[in-house]
Amino acid sequence: MVLAENVHKSFGRTRVLEGIDLRVEPGQVMCLLGPSGSGKSTLLRCINHLEKIDAGRLSVDGALVGYEQRGDRLHELRPRRIARQRRDIGMVFQRFNLFPHMTVLDNILEAPVKVNRVARTAAVTHARELLARVGLRDMESRYPAQLSGGQQQRVAIARALAMRPKLMLFDEPTSALDPELVGEVLAVMKDLAAEGMTMIVVTHEIGFAREVGDIAVFMDGGVVVESGDPREVLVRPRHERTAAFLSKVL
Ligand code: ATP
Ligand code: MG
Repeated sequence: MVLAENVHKSFGRTRVLEGIDLRVEPGQVMCLLGPSGSGKSTLLRCINHLEKIDAGRLSVDGALVGYEQRGDRLHELRPRRIARQRRDIGMVFQRFNLFPHMTVLDNILEAPVKVNRVARTAAVTHARELLARVGLRDMESRYPAQLSGGQQQRVAIARALAMRPKLMLFDEPTSALDPELVGEVLAVMKDLAAEGMTMIVVTHEIGFAREVGDIAVFMDGGVVVESGDPREVLVRPRHERTAAFLSKVL
C-alpha cells in the first residue's frame, strides 16, 4: 500500500530525510517512533505530497505520489490529480483542526459534499454511521468548542474516514490530550485497525504500538535505525539509540 525507496528531503541546508525505505502492506499498521526533529511529520507530509521529496520514490497503492513517469523521467502531476490522490489518504493531526464555526455533522459533511460531490442525504447517512463508529452518536449538532479534546479528535477521525480513504496517516493523535482522554481515541484507532484499515501512526504510545502495530519503525537523524515486529523492536531493541529513546518515553 505504501512503498518508500531511498526518500530524501531537505529544507534548505537542513537534511531531514536521508534515505528512508519503508513498506506497508494493505491492512497493516505501522507505528513510527523517534525523537523530536527526526523527520516523522515530514515523512507523513511527503506521503500525501504536502512536501515534495528531493530524491527517491514514494508510492501509495501502486501509484507514484505526486508524479508520473514518462520514459525514465518523473514529471509532477497537475494540482487536480494531486488533489485526487490526496482524497484517498486521510490525515489526523496532533491538534484537531476542526472547523470551529461548523457543527460536528457539517465538519464531517464538508469534504464529501463539497469536494467529492456526494449527494447530501447519502453523505449524512454515512456521517451518522461514522459518528456511531467513533462513539459520538448524539453529538452531531454540537460545535467543536462544546466537545472534549478526545471527542474532538474522534470527530477528526470520522471526518477523515468520510472520504473513504485507502490509507490513514496519524501524526501524534493523542499527544495533545489530557491523559484520561487518550484511551478513547486509541480505542477508535484500534477498531479501525481491526477492520483492516492501512495506517501509519506516529505515536509514543508504546502499549498501542505493541498491541496494535504490525511493524514498528524507529527513526533518528532522518534514517530508519531499526524496524520490525513491535514486540521485538520495542521490547528487545537491537540498537543503542532505540534503547536509549525507549528508556526515556516509557
Ligand atoms: P516532533 O517529534 O517534534 O514532531 P518530527 O520527528 O515530526 O518531530 P519534523 O517535524 O519532521 O520532525 O522535523 C524534522 C526537521 O525538519 C526539524 O529540524 C524541523 O525544524 C525541520 N523542518 C520541518 N518542516 C520544516 C519547514 N517547513 N521548513 C524548514 N524546516 C522544517
Ligand atoms: Mg512531528
